[in-house]
Amino acid sequence: MSKSLQAIRGMNDILPEQTPLWRYFEGTVARLLDNYGYKQIRMPIVEFTELFKRSIGEVTDIVEKEMYTFEDRNGDSLTLRPEGTAACVRAVLEHGITGGGQVQKLWYIGPMFRHERPQKGRYRQFHQIGLEVFNLDGPDIDAELIIMTWRLWGELGIRDAVKLELNSLGTSESRSRYREALVEYLSAHHDKLDEDSQRRLKTNPLRVLDTKNADTQAVLVDAPKMADYLDDESRAHFEGLKARLDAVGIPYVLNPKLVRGLDYYSKTVFEWVTDKLGAQGTVCAGGRYDGLVEQMGGKPTPGVGFAMGIERLVLMLETLEQIPQEISRQVDVYLCAFGEEAELAGLALAERVRDELPNLRLQVNAGAGSFKSQFKKADKSGALYALILGDDEMAQQVVGFKPLRGQGEQQSIAWDALAAHLATCVVQG
Ligand code: ATP
Ligand code: MG
Repeated sequence: MSKSLQAIRGMNDILPEQTPLWRYFEGTVARLLDNYGYKQIRMPIVEFTELFKRSIGEVTDIVEKEMYTFEDRNGDSLTLRPEGTAACVRAVLEHGITGGGQVQKLWYIGPMFRHERPQKGRYRQFHQIGLEVFNLDGPDIDAELIIMTWRLWGELGIRDAVKLELNSLGTSESRSRYREALVEYLSAHHDKLDEDSQRRLKTNPLRVLDTKNADTQAVLVDAPKMADYLDDESRAHFEGLKARLDAVGIPYVLNPKLVRGLDYYSKTVFEWVTDKLGAQGTVCAGGRYDGLVEQMGGKPTPGVGFAMGIERLVLMLETLEQIPQEISRQVDVYLCAFGEEAELAGLALAERVRDELPNLRLQVNAGAGSFKSQFKKADKSGALYALILGDDEMAQQVVGFKPLRGQGEQQSIAWDALAAHLATCVVQG
């Protein structure tokens, strides 16, 4: 027997019983983004490898060890996107839509790919909703991104379970002054650093700050702090952001060790973290990247954005049992028809009802079957009502209307009156 085929490790099917929750989540975010004036952009999931190397940075975890890179039939090196910002920047540059200081407020959704060790909340194909804003350089827009996510947590019922961590990495000038001081300090303690941090000290010293190694963390206690190296501009920006969060009443924790995995951040960086998911606690992360567009060959263009992990947020909704009841019911009405003539009349009747009630979730029995078996299917579908068309109903041009949940007698409704009747008893989403 041939070996059965399986999905690739860390790449999951999202099964029909899970998709209602995904769609609820995605729909909630999409509506919110619409309301704040963001427009969707869709990029390919494969790009030239060079794009990610240039934007994310050669000495980041992603580029060093997490990318799915392959050669295509032309011999080009391509990579399945590990994140969305790089492709989004490429797209706006390619189409010239940020030229002349044009503001763009964009969002995207889709799968991302990273070769990491799969575990709860960490997969090799995962999904993000991300957002990027171009050509706005003030703290007001940084604040808007955070305010918007705060509203989202409120709408989803998970606000109490997430915490905002905030830091400023300063302008590139203040960051390089800080980097120098940090390197000097860490070099003096070189022997006490773990191996990974010794390596990062040479390649990407700021990343030493987010080490998980306890000995290195102990060394870091007395290390220079970024906050002391911020120049006036970075400081004013950061104060401006905090003032806005205070004005709206959004609590935050300052985390001087928050540096983010990617190279391109400047000034504001933030993460929304939770303790409800075990080790994979960051559900949304982002920051400002004023130098990135220029680094990728464009004119200087300020940018700021974030991405949230859909798997982790769906897991949170499940863990905190914040699953709205109405999303589990996918059928409002189930039509049963007995006999060929009734089946034909039922089909036509169903289409008439759908014309009048386009949002009604009406399922017509398929595969015929006895009275008992069709009824069983109607019940199992989760429908609130069954419609019944048998010989008697056909003779009188009516349909039997039977409540399936809770009380109520079966009634007969004239075909012409059916849509109006359904409109009164089914609340349509
Ligand atoms: P982590 O520190 O958890 O590895 P990250 O800093 O690499 O996250 P980002 O690149 O900032 O993550 O991506 C934004 C969000 O996407 C994360 O906060 C997380 O919610 C989600 N995410 C990132 N990597 C994965 C993954 N492998 N599986 C599931 N979700 C992920
Ligand atoms: Mg990561």
